[in-house]
Amino acid sequence: CGIVGYIGNKDAKEILLSGLEKLEYRGYDSAGIAIVNEKGVHLFKEKGRIAALRNIVDSNIDGTAGIGHTRWATHGPPSRVNAHPHQSTSHRFTLVHNGVIENYEEIKADHLQEVPFVSETDTEVIVQLVERFMDEGNTVEKAFRQTLSLLKGSYAIALIDETDPDKIYVGKNKSPLLVGLGDGVNVIASDAMAMIKTTNEFVELMDQEIVIVTRDSVTIKNLAGVSISRESYIAELDA
Ligand code: GLU
Repeated sequence: CGIVGYIGNKDAKEILLSGLEKLEYRGYDSAGIAIVNEKGVHLFKEKGRIAALRNIVDSNIDGTAGIGHTRWATHGPPSRVNAHPHQSTSHRFTLVHNGVIENYEEIKADHLQEVPFVSETDTEVIVQLVERFMDEGNTVEKAFRQTLSLLKGSYAIALIDETDPDKIYVGKNKSPLLVGLGDGVNVIASDAMAMIKTTNEFVELMDQEIVIVTRDSVTIKNLAGVSISRESYIAELDA
């Protein structure tokens, strides 16, 4: 299972799909990508191999930002509905997640009782919580930090907001996640190998950090919203 994300100046579809292929070795049962452009979020997901996902991706959708996921099912069987990305009820937020949310039932009972859930995953509570905290009048960043503060378990997460296509929100706890730095382009990946064609310069994330990624900035914060600085490193891999 793995995560990729791209925000830059090239067509994101192919970069995400080939990034997911590089993560195939980690094992998976389904896969999906979401492309965001000025017309909104375009979601493609399928059970089975990346090749099956390729078959259903609409080649007419152009976008220079997006997120992708290979799923190793832990909650809910492999299916198109349970495949990531998952969306909030309004479809404003779209999210991918690797890991296990141990307290997802408690979160549903405490915060999301009237929310109609679409999938059987533990993951869906995350994207629904972001929407809930947004609706309570918070900024997206604050809603994202509040959401992650409630999660128990492991996660590597990437989130996009349909109303702000120039940003990807990232979070991590006990699951690997890297941010890759380019010139006018930034990427995210579970493994540097997935994005080595775009850049070999990476920043490692620590547990309970978030990152706000745009085309030309990478801002790391802790869950209290305090900015953190971190040196990048060069990954010695063949492109
Ligand atoms: N627990 C999530 C699910 O079952 C994510 C699994 C994964 O890491 O791919 O959908």
